[in-house]
This record gives sequence, structure tokens and C-alpha cells, in this order.
Amino acid sequence: MTKRYDIAVIGAGIMGMATASYLSKNGVKLAVIDKEYIGSGSTGRCIAGIRQQFSTPASIAVMKENVSLFSQMEEEFGFSVEFYQGGYLLMAHNEEMVELFKSNIKIQQKEGINVSLLSPEEALSVVPKLNIEGLLAAAYCPDDGQAYPFAVLKGYKTKIDERKGDFFLHNPVIKFEKKENFLLYLEDGTVIEAEKVLLSAGPWTKELGRKIDLDLPLFPERHEAMITERIPRIIEPMIVDYRKDGCYFQQMLTGQVIGCYTPSPNVPGLRKNSSREFLLEMGKRMVRLVPELESAAILRHWAGSYNMTPDGNPIVDKTPVDDLYIASGMSGHGFMFGPALSKHLAHFIGNDEWDTDFSEFSFFQPFIRRPRKP
Ligand SMILES: Cc1cc2nc3c(=O)[nH]c(=O)nc-3n(C[C@H](O)[C@H](O)[C@H](O)COP(=O)(O)OP(=O)(O)OC[C@H]3O[C@@H](n4cnc5c(N)ncnc54)[C@H](O)[C@@H]3O)c2cc1C
Repeated sequence: MTKRYDIAVIGAGIMGMATASYLSKNGVKLAVIDKEYIGSGSTGRCIAGIRQQFSTPASIAVMKENVSLFSQMEEEFGFSVEFYQGGYLLMAHNEEMVELFKSNIKIQQKEGINVSLLSPEEALSVVPKLNIEGLLAAAYCPDDGQAYPFAVLKGYKTKIDERKGDFFLHNPVIKFEKKENFLLYLEDGTVIEAEKVLLSAGPWTKELGRKIDLDLPLFPERHEAMITERIPRIIEPMIVDYRKDGCYFQQMLTGQVIGCYTPSPNVPGLRKNSSREFLLEMGKRMVRLVPELESAAILRHWAGSYNMTPDGNPIVDKTPVDDLYIASGMSGHGFMFGPALSKHLAHFIGNDEWDTDFSEFSFFQPFIRRPRKP
């Protein structure tokens, strides 16, 4: 059976859902397809941090806009997405990192971000239970924060439903071709015909691109995460320890501590198995930073993917295949970048011109992309 749409979105993670929600505002006939359930990819596996402390004006501007969009969601959706501005505290344990923070802070302050370099004692006033041994300085922005990914996705779903978008879930795209329009063949035999398609399949985007002869520079890597039981509130910001054996974690609005670390070496490929090694290491690393966490039981650990690009920047662009768009390569920042990137991408898909300078996130246009620093 063939069903016709103006636009088909492949992937119901943050990128697909947010873009579909913005597109649906313009009355387009829209299909959202996912091989599993909404949020089953990286979005439902992330630790939900939202920070504005980036190093390039374009990324900082997008994140400023994102903070504003997250803060409006409760009103827009009619329910809380647990957006909470507890801040981000980035720790520097060596001089090189202190210098990097100083130069980033200059750029961030110029872009209007409320960020400052704290002494170890000042960091202690932000997180009184913090172990500041070896800490030289910390970059702190109290306006950074967190939100609950499943609530955000539910909000977008509600909006897409209201505007009569169709969902095809638990139904992978198994074949994909372009004739006059795109034809997407789903596992259950449904064929979706669409004038335009958005590839937002997270770490599976490279694989889908191959089905239409696109070789995309995307490289999934496994990242693991864990969550504790609820404990009394002892941590306000996301704590980020950049040491080689560091980690990052925050306490959710609902009391659980959620966190992860970047494995060294990286674990390439599309793997979702979590390891005992992570569980033991993560516990040790968190307790080193906040000793009081020793008594907090870890309830679950899991794995998901960072979908990497060669320079660490997302790819939000039109591909060389006519009317085929891409929003992917979100590395460890897709949840926080999602709403604003999607808003402007939806405008681009609808109007064939950007309403903002997105050259930093383009890949196929002849712009200069700037690699991301911490
Ligand atoms: C452990 C961990 C911690 C993280 N922490 C943070 C954080 O604190 N802050 C932050 O901003 N980001 C974080 N991230 C990164 C963030 O989760 C991702 O960048 C973001 O979720 C990517 O969203 P997406 O929509 O591009 O992809 P996804 O959420 O992966 O969505 C892609 C969807 O495409 C679907 N799909 C794939 N193939 C097909 C097919 N053939 N047919 C139909 N559907 C298909 C999948 O089922 C999936 O639902 C973290 C990631 C991990 C793994």
C-alpha cells in the first residue's frame, strides 16, 4: 500500500521529532517513521544535560536559543519537561585546561553567557560536597541545566498529533529510492511516497545513506551511562571532570544521579551492550568527586551511541541528493542542540533558505566548518 506525504522524517529521536513538530506547524502532510519506539535511539539513552559553554559563537548562539526553547516547553506543551537550571561546573585539574577555559569564557561572555571562572573554594560553594583535591579552577554557568528527554519527545509528539502528522513506529525503512519522489519501503510492506525526506536516524544514518548511495562521514561510538536511586538533593550543577579518568554527572530534578564517562580508547560501532567495567569505574570516579555518593545505589546502567563526525560538529544540511536533508552526527550534544537546530532546519526545508547562519553545521555546502573544542 502506498501512502503519499509532502515530507517523511526517518527517525523519532530528538532531531526527527523536533523537526517534524516545527514542519507540521506549516500544514505540511507529514510522516514520522521509526524502526522502534519514539526515543528508542540515543535520545532515550542520554543523560540530558543542557549547556551553553561552547567555544564558537555559532554553537553558543544555538545553545542560548535552546535554553530559551526548553524554558518555554512547559507552556507550549501544557506539561512539565522537567527543565531545571542547576548549572554546569566544568573542572580544570591542569594549567592547559585552565587556559582553555579562560579563552572559552571570553568568547562565551562576549556572546552574553553568564559564565565565570571559579577558584576551588568558590566551586565548593556551588557544590559543598565536592572533593576539590587537585582542582585548579572551574568554569561555571548557573543557567545551564537539564530536561527529561521522554517528556520533551512526548511534547513534540502531542504537537505532531494535533497537526495530523502520521507515525509509523516499530517499522524500519528497509529500502529507499528516488524516482520522481522518494519511495520508502517499510518492513510491514507499507510504501511511503514523499517529496522531501529528512534523514535523522541517529547512529543508523550512515547505514540508511548507503541505501541511496550517499557515503556520509558518520562514525557511531558506544557510550555508557548509569542512574542511581533517588537521594536527597546534594548536587545542583552537572559536574564535568575532564581528566582522562574523569566523568560527568548531575542530579535529576527527581533526585536520581545520572552520569557517564568518555571511554578511552573509544569503542567504535553500533553497540548497545553495557559493561561491568563501566559500572565499577563509574562508581569509583563519582565517589572520588563527591564522596557522599558512596551510599547511593546504582539502579541501572545502559549504553547508547554518540554519532560522530570528523570535526565533532553536527551535520544539518541538504545532501547532494535533491530534496534529501540530513540532521545527524550529533555526538554527545544532540539532546541539547536538538530544538533550535530543528527549528531552523524546518525553516530551511520549507523555504529552501536559511533564516540564520548555519555554516558551522553545514557539510555539503562550500562553507568552512570549525572543529569543536571542549
Ligand atoms: C550515554 C549518552 C549520554 C548522552 N548525554 C547527552 C547529554 O547530556 N546531552 C546531550 O545533549 N546529548 C547527550 N547525548 C547525545 C544525544 O543522546 C544524541 O546526540 C541525540 O539523542 C541524537 O539524537 P538523534 O535524533 O540524532 O538520534 P536518535 O535519538 O538515535 O534517533 C534516531 C532514531 O532513528 C531510528 N532509526 C534508525 N534506523 C532506522 C530505520 N532504518 N528506519 C526507521 N527508523 C530508524 C532509531 O530507532 C532512532 O529512534 C548522550 C548520548 C549517550 C549515548
